[in-house]
Amino acid sequence: MAHLTDMTAACTREGLASKEFSAREVAQAHLDHMDAAEPKIHAFLERTDALALDAADRIDAAIAAGTFADLGPLAGVPVAFKDNMNQKGTHTTCASRMLESYVAPYTATCVQRMLDAGCLPLGKLNMDEFAFGSSTENSAFGVTRNPWDLARVPGGSSGGSAAAVAAGMAPVTLGSDTGGSIRQPAAFCGVVGVKPTYGMVSRYGVVAFGSSLDQVGPFARTVADAASALDALVGRDPLDSTSQDAPAGFAQAAAQDVRGMRVGIVRAFMEASGLTSEVASRTAEAARALEAAGATLVDVELPHSEAAISAYYVLGPCEAFSNLARFDSVRYGACEPGHADLGAQQEASRAAGFGPEAKRRILLGSYLLSAGVYDRYYYPAQQVRTLITQDFARAYESCDVILMPASPHAAFEFGALSDPAQMYLSDIFTVPINIVGNGGMSVPVGLGADTGMPIGVQLVSPQFEDRNMFRAAAVLERAYGAAGVAPAFKAGE
Ligand code: GLN
Repeated sequence: MAHLTDMTAACTREGLASKEFSAREVAQAHLDHMDAAEPKIHAFLERTDALALDAADRIDAAIAAGTFADLGPLAGVPVAFKDNMNQKGTHTTCASRMLESYVAPYTATCVQRMLDAGCLPLGKLNMDEFAFGSSTENSAFGVTRNPWDLARVPGGSSGGSAAAVAAGMAPVTLGSDTGGSIRQPAAFCGVVGVKPTYGMVSRYGVVAFGSSLDQVGPFARTVADAASALDALVGRDPLDSTSQDAPAGFAQAAAQDVRGMRVGIVRAFMEASGLTSEVASRTAEAARALEAAGATLVDVELPHSEAAISAYYVLGPCEAFSNLARFDSVRYGACEPGHADLGAQQEASRAAGFGPEAKRRILLGSYLLSAGVYDRYYYPAQQVRTLITQDFARAYESCDVILMPASPHAAFEFGALSDPAQMYLSDIFTVPINIVGNGGMSVPVGLGADTGMPIGVQLVSPQFEDRNMFRAAAVLERAYGAAGVAPAFKAGE
């Protein structure tokens, strides 16, 4: 029997159905593995061992009662949540001092849907503070390490979500993606990460960063597991007015092939400055693998994408500035007591509660939205958004899915991108997708020739056509092999 922490969600479910092991054994194996792996990785900010074991006992009761077969594909599968998602009775810190003692009074819809699917909740995952960052170095509670090389970052902002999956601590986790925060850490840690089309998954109960950009999605070690998780997550939620019903069936799509599918390639992206040769060659090779499986490669152009980073780092901070106004030490957020008036209390509380990157975004946003300034930055950024959206619409006239790098480089060492502007550039391939609200997913395609680190490619689909990217992702997985647990954290062998 393969070890329980190396198993995919699909195998876990099969083993439970055939009574090869119990759900309690699944939960306990993951908790024990966390005891061993967490001192090295630090993916978790809070563990919910008792909740996981309780959920496991309910699954075991269903197995004993003969009703397990009625439960979905995630029944008895361990899961963990990024720490910007509410789960009633647990902390939601957003990896910020500001929310260090905040306990969620209700459960986010995405979390609830995973619980309703029968998942075993293991805990809350580390991230860049308020999801600002690409390395998880901006967490107020310490960095998360990459399971493939502990000297390197796991990516971010959902670094804990990616690292937990890569280290065998959970087969499925949830993250959020405003400009790449699911796809980039998935690429860095060699796992699958999906940012669905904007509006596909409810954000109710998820702490907002950029409301026109944010989207929740799953991480997993196989395309099929990510598909099952997304199948459980999607659908309109009356509590999030931006959510809508969308065609699901991702698990079925992941079982299909790409014959007849047109895959767009953006030549300019393949020559982008900053793109390392190991990522360029892996991406070109992935294109050939899709072609060999029956897809047709077509050249497409996205000429305004070069303005995407500039537009994103205007729109993102403006929206973040507005969303973070609620952390004012009165409605939400830590309070520094002992001040003569409310203004002084708020100033002191925000100064103490927010870390440097959060302050940078808030200051940027407040400047960019100030009178006389917003028409020079905010409006043009919105215009750029329209131009990029039109580019993608034109590209989809000749293709069904676009293949591009997920990140210009593999995971870097801690401290290597200390200049914020340099860090922002690592989002060049991911932010355009949030700007247009398309689906995007990162799929591992082996290790880089120079760094030996995992490389991910990105598949992008038109809005609500996310099944296309699952079809292509499954073909790449068949060509390269599924992402397993990182070698040092494999339990069996
Ligand atoms: N790295 C990007 C940023 O810092 C994206 C973050 C995200 O998607 N949450 O804004």
